[in-house]
Amino acid sequence: MNVILVGPPGAGKGTQAETIVQTFRIPHISTGDMFRDAVRQGTELGKKAQEYMNAGKLVPDEVTIGIVKERLSQPDCDRGFLLDGFPRTVVQAEALDGIMESLGKRIEVVLNIAVPDEIIIERIVGRRSCKKCNAVYHVKFNPPKVEGICDKCGEPLFQRADDREETAAQRLKVYAEQTNPVLDFYVKKGVVVNIDGNRSRSAVWEDVKKALESYDNN
Ligand code: ADP
Ligand code: ADP
Ligand code: ZN
Repeated sequence: MNVILVGPPGAGKGTQAETIVQTFRIPHISTGDMFRDAVRQGTELGKKAQEYMNAGKLVPDEVTIGIVKERLSQPDCDRGFLLDGFPRTVVQAEALDGIMESLGKRIEVVLNIAVPDEIIIERIVGRRSCKKCNAVYHVKFNPPKVEGICDKCGEPLFQRADDREETAAQRLKVYAEQTNPVLDFYVKKGVVVNIDGNRSRSAVWEDVKKALESYDNN
């Protein structure tokens, strides 16, 4: 099952991804998580990505495409994968087509999680993330059992540098300009399923599960 999650920042992609990968046993490939891990480790990739991320801009296509190509070639992707946060430009979507072709695979479904902008800002500003396991929480909508501590691994939670209001607005603008056309690209291929993300996590999950069950051949 080869799946892509699309949706603006804060739509709930990472949250749904946690349940999708547990249920369908496929790897979660989040370019945002990969970049944040690289920044934390101080690698060359991290150095290249950090400035763009903090400004709410996209990391250059050639850098992003390179890391995804390498990741998708690994054997754990043979039975399927969940791409979260990639592709975000039409150039990336076209490159992904080429990568898939060279691997003899294809994208089966693109889940588009839609949430209105005014709801999104509150979600982004209240998001808290775990540095160690990348789990996501919300101070109001999904608080951890102990304030400031990850339920899953016990590490302290933090607020992403790009989750402040100013940067969040910039990211929404980038999404509208650069990522919306990606959706059209997949609509033309007939693989998009629209999900109303402006509901409870469990209501969203019911629709996500329904949409994915027919592709699950593990
Ligand atoms: P969000 O919660 O906004 O969906 P992500 O964790 O997916 O955030 O991405 C955070 C940042 O990482 C982006 O604002 C961007 O700088 C960078 N990034 C992630 N994925 C991509 C991508 N496919 N192309 C370019 N930049 C990316
Ligand atoms: P994305 O990966 O699309 O940027 P996240 O999954 O990180 O989004 O969710 C953004 C924030 O909104 C997080 O703080 C998360 O806990 C919260 N959230 C996710 N889904 C919902 C929902 N259905 N209702 C309310 N808050 C949600
Ligand atoms: Zn954790």
